[in-house]
Amino acid sequence: MIHEVYEWMLNLDLSEYIITFDDGLYSQYKYLEHFLKFNTPKIFFISTNIISPEDEIQNKETIPCARAHELFFKNKVTNNYMKWSQIKEIANTANCYIGGHSHKHKDLRKNISLKELHSHLKNDTDTMISEFEKKGIQIKDFCFPYNYEAPLYKEVLKQKGITNIYGSGRIAIEELKNAI
Ligand SMILES: [Zn+2]
Repeated sequence: MIHEVYEWMLNLDLSEYIITFDDGLYSQYKYLEHFLKFNTPKIFFISTNIISPEDEIQNKETIPCARAHELFFKNKVTNNYMKWSQIKEIANTANCYIGGHSHKHKDLRKNISLKELHSHLKNDTDTMISEFEKKGIQIKDFCFPYNYEAPLYKEVLKQKGITNIYGSGRIAIEELKNAI
């Protein structure tokens, strides 16, 4: 599991691993060529509401994923994220797949009623799927924002035909740093 990409990550031999990239950060696209050297599947999980506009100049400096989210949620800053054209390019690259990571990337770990949760999940998932469809992207894979793995979320996704679901069972690349 990779979020923002730092240069130290480029020294790791990931040839034995399926590599997942969360949140559609621009640093993932910036270092795409490197990861393509590994012959394993790579899945890029995108939140369809957090996209850099085509005419924006993206931030070439890697910043932490949590900071990029903070800048987006507080100030609508999108320049740490990929553009649709870049996401489509990845979708058309061998061994690369686009997966869903919700539309709004809402934090659902707080106390909200089951009714509110259910209606949010249904609406957000429908919006995500329709945003992908508009761009001609079909998804089979999904990973939960904040790895929040509620059974209700799984059920809503399953009802929409999304069954390949990733969560906290993945190994963070930070944990692999000293292991490989
Ligand atoms: Zn995320």
